[in-house]
Amino acid sequence: MCDHAVTAGQPQLVDVSKLDRRLLLRGLASGTLLLVAGCATNTETGRSQFILIDDAQLEQASLQAWAQVRQQTPVWRNAAAQRRLESVGTRIAQAAGRGGQPWEFVLFDSNEKNAFVLPGGHVGFYRGLYDICERDDWMAAVLGHEVGHVTGRHAAERYSREMATQTALQVAGTQINSQIAMAALGLGAQVGLSLPFSREQEAEADIIGIRYMHAAGFDVRQAIPFWQRMQQSGGSRPPEFLSTHPDPDNRIARIRDYINQQGWGPV
Ligand SMILES: [Zn+2]
Repeated sequence: MCDHAVTAGQPQLVDVSKLDRRLLLRGLASGTLLLVAGCATNTETGRSQFILIDDAQLEQASLQAWAQVRQQTPVWRNAAAQRRLESVGTRIAQAAGRGGQPWEFVLFDSNEKNAFVLPGGHVGFYRGLYDICERDDWMAAVLGHEVGHVTGRHAAERYSREMATQTALQVAGTQINSQIAMAALGLGAQVGLSLPFSREQEAEADIIGIRYMHAAGFDVRQAIPFWQRMQQSGGSRPPEFLSTHPDPDNRIARIRDYINQQGWGPV
């Protein structure tokens, strides 16, 4: 399904990826454009996605966001841990069919039990999460999930929805402040970081991640104790990685079902 088109007035169909953004906004404001932007089928998931941003723009934003994180967060300097992260990460990336693109795996010195990925292939992994990953299979569960966000094109999808919503709001209003509108249409350096993924995207990344784990030769059954451990380690306040992610019980049940359905269990 791809039903996020933004309409205004007497429409004219356009391909927004080929349109200057200032013209786009003017067209929307004057009601002469119908925004039917790129619905593309994701080869990894078979799901149709609403994507307004091209890969080069996303790559650029990703690099900016990465530079910002690198500046703000100290790196955890542990050569053995770094080697382990890169080894597992590289196996997962290759299993995802993305071994040919550059990936960067960085350990950050923070107690957070968290990890993140940027669409350009930059993966941040926090020491607090690393310390939990007593097996490479557990680390692979995290990295499979993160790489799944990239191949699932989740940042582009999230950004595109946000942009369409904001554009629709701008157009709906009687006053169009071009500065604000341009900011809404422009790309902040925070893309992919400031916009949380949806629950559906998180669930999708979980399943894609299990597939990559399996393809890379990791023990997918270990995803279950890993997520159970994450759940336990949350204490009264769940770790951020969980709080922005689906309900842990549902999540574990879904992953379990998938593994068993694939015949990779029983688990
Ligand atoms: Zn996620």
